[in-house]
Amino acid sequence: MIHKPILFIFVLLLCSAHSYAHEDSLMVKTIKIGKHSFKIIQQYGKTDDKVLFLNVHEDEITSIETTEAYGEENPIHFIRIAHLNTRRLNFDIGSITFSVDPNRIYTRKGRRKTLKDGGKYSLKAAKQVKTFANLFLDFLKSREVIIAMHNNTDVNYSIKSYQAGGDEAQNTAEVYVNPEMDPDDFVYTTEKEYYDKLVAKNINVILQDNRKFVNDGSLSVYCGINGIKYINIEAQKGHYDEQLELIKVVMSIL
Ligand SMILES: [Zn+2]
Repeated sequence: MIHKPILFIFVLLLCSAHSYAHEDSLMVKTIKIGKHSFKIIQQYGKTDDKVLFLNVHEDEITSIETTEAYGEENPIHFIRIAHLNTRRLNFDIGSITFSVDPNRIYTRKGRRKTLKDGGKYSLKAAKQVKTFANLFLDFLKSREVIIAMHNNTDVNYSIKSYQAGGDEAQNTAEVYVNPEMDPDDFVYTTEKEYYDKLVAKNINVILQDNRKFVNDGSLSVYCGINGIKYINIEAQKGHYDEQLELIKVVMSIL
């Protein structure tokens, strides 16, 4: 039997450890693929674990800056992959260099295609990428909503890609366009409830078709398959004010 005063001190210690975990904190973990270590930077504010912001494309700077700016005013949890400020992750196995898009690695089909797109494919490389993807996905566990932050450029890809005849039309269940907004600034979600709320706020928004989508191995596809609520806040690179505003609107509907 534990002596009562000692038990009391033990409980006190537990409580202080618990409250410390909710202080603002910055942690860096590393996950390896082949010989390369990739940093996962975690910024945790004093808030519950419900919402997780994430960024996987380190060169999409506006999306990182706006998330951090929002986080200074409102406590959030934010994780991002940090490497060499490039979109793709490059790694060596033996003497061969492989390359993947970190938003195309969450299904087998996606890993295979992104490795091939990167110039080299091997089963061993695909397995190592799978291990990396699974360790990254661990950060999503027990969250209610995932908010992925992305930027695009002023060419090709926009909300118009999701309209009938566009490159992404197969992924679209519903799409709403506010003609007053830049077509590069929009929200993409797997959830009908969020879609309807954003339409009511006159925001450019796409609802993913969770059955007919193209299995490209992206996080939206992974979340669609696994029933995880997913939101992607997309803005043109440099549209700082617009993307910050989209974060505020999205947080107001959760
Ligand atoms: Zn991106």
